[in-house]
Amino acid sequence: MLSSLRVPVELLRLPVVGRHSRKSSCAFRGTLRASILRGTDQNIHPMDKSLTPQAFASNNLNRSLGDRREAEFLHTAFPHAHFVIVSGSKVMVSRDAMVKLRWLEARELQSLQYGPSGVGTIQHSQSEALSPYLLGKEDSTWRMVLEADEKLLSSMESSAHELVDLRSLMPVLPMEELAVAGHAVALSNWHKSHVFCGKCGSRTEPIEAGGKRQCLADPAHREYPRTDPVAIMLVESVDGEHALLGRPRSLKRRGPVLTCLSGFIEQGESIEEAVAREVREEAGVDVESVHILGSQPWPIGRGGSCELMIGCMAKAKSDALHMDDTEMDDVRWISKADVKKALERSSAADNPLTGEHEEQHQDLDFFVPPPWAIAHHLVKIWAEQQSAWFPAKL
Ligand SMILES: [Zn+2]
Repeated sequence: MLSSLRVPVELLRLPVVGRHSRKSSCAFRGTLRASILRGTDQNIHPMDKSLTPQAFASNNLNRSLGDRREAEFLHTAFPHAHFVIVSGSKVMVSRDAMVKLRWLEARELQSLQYGPSGVGTIQHSQSEALSPYLLGKEDSTWRMVLEADEKLLSSMESSAHELVDLRSLMPVLPMEELAVAGHAVALSNWHKSHVFCGKCGSRTEPIEAGGKRQCLADPAHREYPRTDPVAIMLVESVDGEHALLGRPRSLKRRGPVLTCLSGFIEQGESIEEAVAREVREEAGVDVESVHILGSQPWPIGRGGSCELMIGCMAKAKSDALHMDDTEMDDVRWISKADVKKALERSSAADNPLTGEHEEQHQDLDFFVPPPWAIAHHLVKIWAEQQSAWFPAKL
């Protein structure tokens, strides 16, 4: 079985973003992708102070597709479709020198005795029907995701490819492919968790090539792929020389990590209001200004959900801290000088979030997240600002 294939890479532990990350099973060691590293050097526009695209963004597939609404879409599209294979949070990648998504072409599926069956499904004569979901189009090729069953996985067993956890692919997949992989895992997970109607409890089925699900009892009951918004913020001190960083209790097991505060945006709440509420709840600090800088899709959110991390900068009204110790393990004001030191080793092999060792540095007792997390970019652009982020009031 593919699940037993040897992963030809060494294990390492992976990054933390706020309190929403999970421990990974494995990851590729290697040079970080140049695209993301370049982003860390030029990650702020001098005029508008916005972030450049983050990991899991930069999906170049065309998603504006009306064709998917046609009843015979899958039959028509199948000969021109390529499928990325997922299994839970794992994605199939090639084992070549460069890590790349393994796209399974329609002719390969046909050679394995799979073909279109009912409306919107493909099937092997000896297995249950599978539902491919449309991700987008690239030139004349339809790109779809297919959650594989045991039959397909065993048919595909090969030393040329393997299933690897999406989190482990963050440092190594090309940025555009990582975005597609993230969409594939998020969409597949969403379908698996919405097989029953939220309004009446009846079964649902995918329609429009996976663009939505429809209730079998009442066609007016429809569900749409969901994204949960999360505010993540760097809070600047009154003097502009310190950043408020913390470690949720849920991350305590990950070691000496300090990152930006974060939390889900509630219903009927603006992004700015969510930032103020979360900072007050977690650190007891009131903020007076909030800047929204950019966002990061986060398809590996809690419970397999897809989140959208909205990166913000906030200004504290006062520096007094009253940490909520039921939720947070540590909250501190960190000087700009120490933040810069931490950034220099955020991708180092001895960062417990990215490397193999947990050696304690003599000068600092914490690490910040690596470059594929938006928290890293918030910390970095703040530290690189020569003066305070928020102008002093006259
Ligand atoms: Zn219903």
